[in-house]
Amino acid sequence: MLKINEIYYSIQGESSYAGLPCVFVRLTFCNLRCTYCDTEYAFYEGTEYSIDEIINKVDSFGCKLVEVTGGEPLVQEESLNLLRELCEQGYEVLLETGGSLPIKDVDRRVKIIMDLKCPTSGMLKKNNYDNISYLKPKDEIKFVIGDRIDYDWSKKIISEYNLTQKCTVLFSVVFDNLKPVILVNWILEDKLNVRFQLQMHKFIWHPATKGV
Ligand code: SF4
Repeated sequence: MLKINEIYYSIQGESSYAGLPCVFVRLTFCNLRCTYCDTEYAFYEGTEYSIDEIINKVDSFGCKLVEVTGGEPLVQEESLNLLRELCEQGYEVLLETGGSLPIKDVDRRVKIIMDLKCPTSGMLKKNNYDNISYLKPKDEIKFVIGDRIDYDWSKKIISEYNLTQKCTVLFSVVFDNLKPVILVNWILEDKLNVRFQLQMHKFIWHPATKGV
């Protein structure tokens, strides 16, 4: 059984899949407490579902793209079986993970979108850098940047681990904290080979809206 916070159908707001219709399976619990967290409601609230029940619900939306997110999905070990089963059922599967828990046992068919937590998140010490060696070319690494210190740190990590050679690197701002134009100008000045992104859903709906 897995504790699920919500399952819903919406537009993917982030990653290179932004703009595509997608079913979201949001798992309860997170082992981190980022300063800018926008899904605190997923820390504890939820209902127990079996994997079959989750897949039946996902099926009901008639969409073959599905994202498993949280909270932190990998807190519940059973999430590995859910990811595998979704792949078996022919879904294109995305996993959003905060980057503190091991990804090595995630099914290789899953596209992993993994954060590396910047200093202003307050969770810098939780980054599991061993995960980098398990990333595949189709995976994506995300930096959520709140100020210049975060930006410089991200640049250092990209260079240290040669990240842009491994997979797509996403840069986004801490919403309502750093102005997008500032981050975009830094990226252009430094000619960084990263993909800037906005959290599209926060512009379509009110930023605090749940289930979108
Ligand atoms: S990892 Fe995600 S869900 Fe967990 S505290 Fe950070 S932003 Fe919130």
